[in-house]
Amino acid sequence: MIIAVINCGSSSIKFQIFDMQGDAVIVDGLVEGIGEPQGKVLLSYPRMDDGEKHEFISEICDHRSGLEMLIDEVTQSAAIPGNAELYCIGHRVVHGGELFIQPTLIDDEVLAGIRAQAVLAPLHNPANLVGIEAAMAASPETPQVAVFDTAFHHSIPRQAYLYALPYELYQSYKIRRYGFHGTSHGYVTRTAAEYLNIPLQRFNAIVFHLGNGASVTAVRGGKSVDTSMGLTPLEGLVMGTRSGDVDPAIYAYLEANAGMSVGSIDAMLNRESGLKGICDDNDMRRILERAQEGDDLAQLAFDIFCYRAKKYLGAYFAVLGRVDAVIFTAGIGENSVEVRSEICAGLEGLGISVDPDRNSKRGSPLEIGSHDSRVKVLVIATQEELEIAQQAQQCMAQAESV
Ligand code: ADP
Repeated sequence: MIIAVINCGSSSIKFQIFDMQGDAVIVDGLVEGIGEPQGKVLLSYPRMDDGEKHEFISEICDHRSGLEMLIDEVTQSAAIPGNAELYCIGHRVVHGGELFIQPTLIDDEVLAGIRAQAVLAPLHNPANLVGIEAAMAASPETPQVAVFDTAFHHSIPRQAYLYALPYELYQSYKIRRYGFHGTSHGYVTRTAAEYLNIPLQRFNAIVFHLGNGASVTAVRGGKSVDTSMGLTPLEGLVMGTRSGDVDPAIYAYLEANAGMSVGSIDAMLNRESGLKGICDDNDMRRILERAQEGDDLAQLAFDIFCYRAKKYLGAYFAVLGRVDAVIFTAGIGENSVEVRSEICAGLEGLGISVDPDRNSKRGSPLEIGSHDSRVKVLVIATQEELEIAQQAQQCMAQAESV
């Protein structure tokens, strides 16, 4: 069974095709620089020619032409056997609001629903919609399934998802915590429970997704019960260019004292803050190199990043009471020995201790806790596209069984 997954960002498209027998990636594609004079299509076929990367440079005026280029190239390759049929296309959709809490087969009504959630995710949902519409145009007979980033968090209880604002704002404007990175948190939670051989319904964990965007989730019985991102992906941990938690009074203060508009403060908090705001760089690899060379601001950015994460770890430990595992995933979580070690440092009192030797190894799942660490500490590589493919497959199976 062949399933394609499309993850459309504002100027890029991630594209994978899976043979669901063995969860094998047969096509791995990336389109970058959409709308810029020089766009790029990168394609590889892991089962063929040693996974060599093919690169095409051309102007890619919009998402539709980017997707068409990808489809043309893939069709000409021998990556997909001639008689194989595309079972469905799974789409990542960032915001499902309160409307979509599970993978959903897309029809006109669902498209309208996703469009309606765009007020909650103005940077993301419109790009996701463009991807869906382009795929529908390119492959009109193929069922399309939307998989929502917010869905894993629909189990968060009321006291954790509501802000202490006038209740009327929730009723009228749906202002509440939604949480994001749900496919990633869900995937690594399940993978960790399987690896540790703990039934998912009894599995409690604190999951750190630390990439350019970063969030942490408290998982009880395999379900999300709290998460650091909120109404939008701005809240919570320190990120590449996003501030995470700040005092909301900053808006009024900067407006009164720096003459900044709400729009410019919002842009600053999203694009000029976080690691970049402190040390003018949002790449953790370079920050670590600079810190090692004695650069004070790079060290400070690292310290603030890890301190905020540690604070959430403590808070979520208190929320859960019993924790089976602390899990690290995504670019920084999977690769940075230093970040993992610093976040867990000094937490022996909570039963968490990292073994330096194990922490320096690579792999997934990788156990990095010391032998006497009561709480397991794991590194698990996230596979958001595979998770989307699996959820799309389940959604199709349910639809067919009705
Ligand atoms: P996103 O998908 O949110 O764009 P990723 O999950 O790819 O982000 O993570 C990007 C981050 O991972 C960057 O800050 C990058 O510096 C960091 N990263 C990647 N490899 C390493 C490494 N070996 N050591 C430290 N950080 C790393």
